[in-house]
Amino acid sequence: MNIQTKGRQLRKILEDLCFPPRCAVCDGILEPGETGVHPECRKKLRPVEEPCCMHCGKPVSLETHEYCPDCAKKLRVSTRPLPGQRSSAPEETITQGKALYLYQGEIKQSMYRLKYANRREYGAFFAEEAAGRYGAWIRRCGIEVLIPVPMYRKKEKQRGYNQAEIIARELSVRLGIPMDGNFVFRIRNTAPQKELNDTDRKNNLKNAFHIPKNIVKYSRVLLIDDIYTTGSTADALAAAFHGQGISSVYFMSICIGTGN
Ligand SMILES: [Zn+2]
Ligand SMILES: [Zn+2]
Repeated sequence: MNIQTKGRQLRKILEDLCFPPRCAVCDGILEPGETGVHPECRKKLRPVEEPCCMHCGKPVSLETHEYCPDCAKKLRVSTRPLPGQRSSAPEETITQGKALYLYQGEIKQSMYRLKYANRREYGAFFAEEAAGRYGAWIRRCGIEVLIPVPMYRKKEKQRGYNQAEIIARELSVRLGIPMDGNFVFRIRNTAPQKELNDTDRKNNLKNAFHIPKNIVKYSRVLLIDDIYTTGSTADALAAAFHGQGISSVYFMSICIGTGN
């Protein structure tokens, strides 16, 4: 073992002593040998299970339904389209989305701490879970790059980090697919989407994003975020990306709202 490796190991031991790794669910200190979450806390997570909306990944109530009501409206089809009625995703929306957990129960506090209480370390756990569950799907989609949903610069400076970028970076390491955190910028400090209705959401995001010119060209990208609610942010980004010649804009979030 060389000196550098020894040094790294020593630093890790000291870091763990001063800042012991915490559970991404309850925030309690993990026992030696435990990684990510306590075994009993894992049971509190609610993974998204089939049947799911083919478009956004949100659970649907019936096996026979292909789309959630929101997406059916957006795609102008019924939740249970007849053969031939199924339309491919229009330009103004994402190609397809997936999510790991329902935004219910304990994970709400976890997402809050990841976002506002500097618990960046949770990113590694969620990325590990995402790689395990959706790594094969991401490869099948032919994703060339992971792009975190950007935060308004000033806000990111105040917070010190963008939680979506933390997750994307950790996922990038695990999948060996590059992450590009400078592909798109949020140039307007938009109001929180959850406080707005449908129309106001769209207007709120109008011209909110900027893609600098003369950048590397991608054709298949995966947007990464912590929470997917109505999808208006993802769709606004997808529309901007399609305008730049990107053919497929996939989306993955850690949590997804269930609309109630
Ligand atoms: Zn725990
Ligand atoms: Zn949907």
